[in-house]
Amino acid sequence: MALRLYRTDAYLTSFTARVAACVTHKGTPALVLDQTAFYPEAGGQPHDTGTIAHARVMNVVEDANGEILHVLESGASDGLQPGDEVQCSIDWARRFDHMQQHSGQHVLSQAFIRVAGLDTIAIHIGQSDCTIDLPAPALPTNAIERAEREANAIVMEDRPILAYEVSDADLPAIPLRRPPKVSGAIRIVEVKDYDWSACGGTHVRNTAQIGLIKIIKAEKRGAETRITFRCGGRAFDDYARLSAATGRLMEALSAGRYDVEQAVQKLIAEARADRKALQDAQARLIAYEAAELLAGAAHEGEQLWVTQAFAGRDPSELRALAKQLTGTSRVVVLLGASGDKAQLIFARAQDATGDMAAALRCALAVLSPDGAAKGGGAPAFAQGGGVTADLARVQAAIAAARAWLCDQPRTTSVSADKS
Ligand SMILES: [Zn+2]
Repeated sequence: MALRLYRTDAYLTSFTARVAACVTHKGTPALVLDQTAFYPEAGGQPHDTGTIAHARVMNVVEDANGEILHVLESGASDGLQPGDEVQCSIDWARRFDHMQQHSGQHVLSQAFIRVAGLDTIAIHIGQSDCTIDLPAPALPTNAIERAEREANAIVMEDRPILAYEVSDADLPAIPLRRPPKVSGAIRIVEVKDYDWSACGGTHVRNTAQIGLIKIIKAEKRGAETRITFRCGGRAFDDYARLSAATGRLMEALSAGRYDVEQAVQKLIAEARADRKALQDAQARLIAYEAAELLAGAAHEGEQLWVTQAFAGRDPSELRALAKQLTGTSRVVVLLGASGDKAQLIFARAQDATGDMAAALRCALAVLSPDGAAKGGGAPAFAQGGGVTADLARVQAAIAAARAWLCDQPRTTSVSADKS
């Protein structure tokens, strides 16, 4: 079994080892070393990357027997033999980032216990976000702000972070956050006089090296709350990005740094008021347009016919116009719009007669003889279309519907609705 060098020195980035075995992991070449500073994916902390001799290490995993496999770039193990002495190197930027996030997680988990009595039940250290899950669907008032302040105070106190092993017998004397998942000699990671965890991960040597601990989101997930946070370099990058965005908004809105939110809220309120005013104006226009169409409507039998084809018009406007028109007694409205998605909207007043859904089927057959146009509805309202059609074709479709309706035997509106 390889000696795990990272357990005693998380800052070791370059070391010499001997190849113990050349194996494969899911079809990719992998090496087992006699000792290693490469951290395998475990305990919520991602694996390291780096190099072994000339070969790039893409992944580091612990197999079922507890052996650490260094998974190499395809073909990169060529020439490496068991017994070879190899120079190894860890990608430090990636590892140090993981150390900052992982150490920050210990401090933040303890802070939530101290300010809200909430134990961390799961952690995840991802490539952009880190999370801890707390066993409550909602947190006490200000718990997030208080935990964040507490955690950052611990950072600024520059407390040592220690790792040491204790035996089962000594374990009861350690105020562990959670019971260990393994037995025998237990590795304790202690944030000096603040937090004690059974943990096999890599950590920074003092809390100051964690840097800023920033919570960026809290979301309810069933009976739990997931806290998303970033530490150190990641928190700095997040701050820099948000600060730059704020600067651009300040310039665009001519607002002060802390007035940007208020300026945006004002813009949103203005946009809502504008939208409402526009809708009111459109409704008035529709009313005028309906009155104009009714003035030119044709009387035939006891019904009033409004038939109109428009060049490319929004279906919602057509519906609003049809709705306005059918407020008039005995009116039958056959509207259409040409375009890439031509539309037909047929409607009638409750006291008028005729099956609009049946008339639509007749019109759709003219709109697209290949049957591509779709639609449907009820006796008093139907709509359809969705195919490319020019104005002449839409007019022909409406004319066909009108001719079909006029051919139908006269019935009262009540019997037509029941048919
Ligand atoms: Zn840890």
